[in-house]
Amino acid sequence: MSFGEIIGQQKQIENLRTALRSGRLHHGYLFVGPDGVGKRSISLALAKAIHCSAHEDDFCGDCVNCTRIAAGNHPDVRFVGPLAGKKEISIQQIRDIEKELNLQSFTGQRKIAIFDPATLLNLSSQNALLKTLEEPPNNSLLILIASSVGSLLPTLRSRCLQVSFAPIEPKTLVDFLIVAKHCSSEEANNLATLSMGSVGLALNLKDNKLFEKRREWAALTASIGRGDYRAASAAAEKLAANKNDSLGFLEWAQSFFRDVLVYSADAPAQNLTNIDLQEQIQHVCNAGTLERWLSVLEQTYDAGARIQRNLNRRMVLEDLLFNVAGRR
Ligand SMILES: [Zn+2]
Repeated sequence: MSFGEIIGQQKQIENLRTALRSGRLHHGYLFVGPDGVGKRSISLALAKAIHCSAHEDDFCGDCVNCTRIAAGNHPDVRFVGPLAGKKEISIQQIRDIEKELNLQSFTGQRKIAIFDPATLLNLSSQNALLKTLEEPPNNSLLILIASSVGSLLPTLRSRCLQVSFAPIEPKTLVDFLIVAKHCSSEEANNLATLSMGSVGLALNLKDNKLFEKRREWAALTASIGRGDYRAASAAAEKLAANKNDSLGFLEWAQSFFRDVLVYSADAPAQNLTNIDLQEQIQHVCNAGTLERWLSVLEQTYDAGARIQRNLNRRMVLEDLLFNVAGRR
């Protein structure tokens, strides 16, 4: 493995490598961009390149430093996220990290802390981290990873060099899925569209058989005719059997009903997310009005939140699918 094998984000990688080569790495970086586009992989790659015993501005993936960093047990590289059972990164964690950053490096290179996701730093831990960034320990490197910067203090942001990560270009993602993941060209194109440029999401879709599941969900949704509450009830019972499936369905249903709205607005087919489900999208679209699909779309978000709060899944899903059948 090397930087050359990371897909997309070539400009960002080149800038980091140039800084590394010339000894001009900043002491604090903020990696910002959507989930699954390489922020974590690139921070990991940078940590390896800094400590790799075989290369100066790249990494081998095989030496003791590279392997220990990949396994998460290198003494100079720490990933910081919420502790088990906690929702936020605590101030105590920041204090512990600051102590560690002040210790002698194991390899004589930088001590690195990667905060992922930095959006889970609460206000007091952000303030503590701000102090660390204002007076960084010698030879330290902090990387904050965030999908958006809204929840981060402006003072904290201004202390970091921001690197923005855009979704991966569709063609790059399609090529990667065909060459490295042995997808057929049709599957690769569908996954690239569905994942909207997120490698993480594309691989997740592929590995979790979500791709096929979507087709079942679409067929189930399209089978609910106008006034057919019996079909709606049967579908709700099926989808409610397992909490993860219920939530997976609702997440997908958001993109599906968004597509129904796109379709009803006569937008070009390439604007659809579920491009392989056009037939079902058209079928559902023709069975109701724009107002109905808008209300169903809104309800999918609400239903997901209600299931997260452990409300009766069958009732929540029935409520939504009765709306699909035209009750409201
Ligand atoms: Zn190495």
